Amino acid sequence: MALEAVGSSLVSDGQQNTATLHQPANPVQKVNLLGMSRAELEKFFEDLGEKKFRAGQVMKWIHQYFVTDFAEMTNISGKLRDKLVQICEIKAPEVVHRNYSKDGTRKWVFRVGEGKGSLVETVLIPAEDKTGSRKTLCISSQVGCALDCSFCSTGKQGFQRDLTPAEIIGQLWMANFSYMEDVPVAERERSVTNVVMMGMGEPLLNYDAVLSSMRIMLDDFAYGMSKRRVTLSTSGVVPKIDQLAQDIDVALAISLHAPNDELRNELVPINKKYPLEQLITACQRYIAKDGNESARKHVTIEYVMLDGVNDQPEHAQQLLKLLKNLPSKINLIPFNPFPHAPYGRSSRNRIIAFQKTLSDAGFVCTIRQTRGDDIDAACGQLVGQVADRTRRAAQWQKKIAEKNEIIRSKG
Ligand code: SF4
Repeated sequence: MALEAVGSSLVSDGQQNTATLHQPANPVQKVNLLGMSRAELEKFFEDLGEKKFRAGQVMKWIHQYFVTDFAEMTNISGKLRDKLVQICEIKAPEVVHRNYSKDGTRKWVFRVGEGKGSLVETVLIPAEDKTGSRKTLCISSQVGCALDCSFCSTGKQGFQRDLTPAEIIGQLWMANFSYMEDVPVAERERSVTNVVMMGMGEPLLNYDAVLSSMRIMLDDFAYGMSKRRVTLSTSGVVPKIDQLAQDIDVALAISLHAPNDELRNELVPINKKYPLEQLITACQRYIAKDGNESARKHVTIEYVMLDGVNDQPEHAQQLLKLLKNLPSKINLIPFNPFPHAPYGRSSRNRIIAFQKTLSDAGFVCTIRQTRGDDIDAACGQLVGQVADRTRRAAQWQKKIAEKNEIIRSKG
């Protein structure tokens, strides 16, 4: 796709013509270099009649110095810079809203696509721990999501489209740039230390674009991130977990949220297609690909705590049984209610009791700190007003009330 577009521009500029170049659909459309992996950029430069090493040079300017103007790329000849200006661009998604919380959390809403486009959201959460300071960026992979998990505000918006590699990596680019805007180019550095593919969308259903973006994250000529610090979070698209194991070494997280099929079918409907047994064995296969330096020492289990739904002692016991043969760390996430959300957040005591059961059994089990509440940046509060187009909210509220009544009557 990229090369076709390059060819189009070259033909329209009248600078070069070869048998491989096509007549342009849109003669003014420039190629966006932002989302190109090193291999793609090398091919791009070779097709221009340039040396491959230009790819590494340009990648560094884009992803390490956050330069979008070719004129600032001082180790590239003036002639090549002139050519690049005519046929390509470096374009991150447009920021339509940004908000920086008192606790250091930052949130951006980006417009993607032409015209009014669509909105996607990115959240950066800073943290201090014994390893130092971390800045973790939660990146979106799709506009909306087709999987319709019942506790998720993104799922309520339905699926619109996949993001392109430039739109995915553009979120990381913009988050880093936000710390460097006022810093001279030569002194700029990368600020984001960790990435989780855990924003809007199911990343494994936009596989190629997500894979390409993660390769740019790991590339030493771009962000040079440690593979242990790049995490892909999936709701459980089993065949793609196996494919991921073949293609790249990054950390894996599973949005589990329920310890049995009956409950998970309701909370995470893709479970009907890939039930828990298949999911857990896919995770075991993923870990089995382990190498000495691998990011695959364990799987992170994400478990949102929904009041009266999945937070009972029997659920903790079922979880222990489910995970007993899977090296895993468990992350309990206090639910962040959104407008018309069909659930409430489990009480602090309930979450702590749940954690204790898992920790006492030997699991590393953490409770995610709720951050960025003052800017609606917590997980599950992505983009805009949520219109629940289904009647499920009401149905679930009724179910929860019934369950709570049973719990109360049991004393
Ligand atoms: S939790 Fe993830 S997979 Fe489920 S609907 Fe939301 S974005 Fe999609």
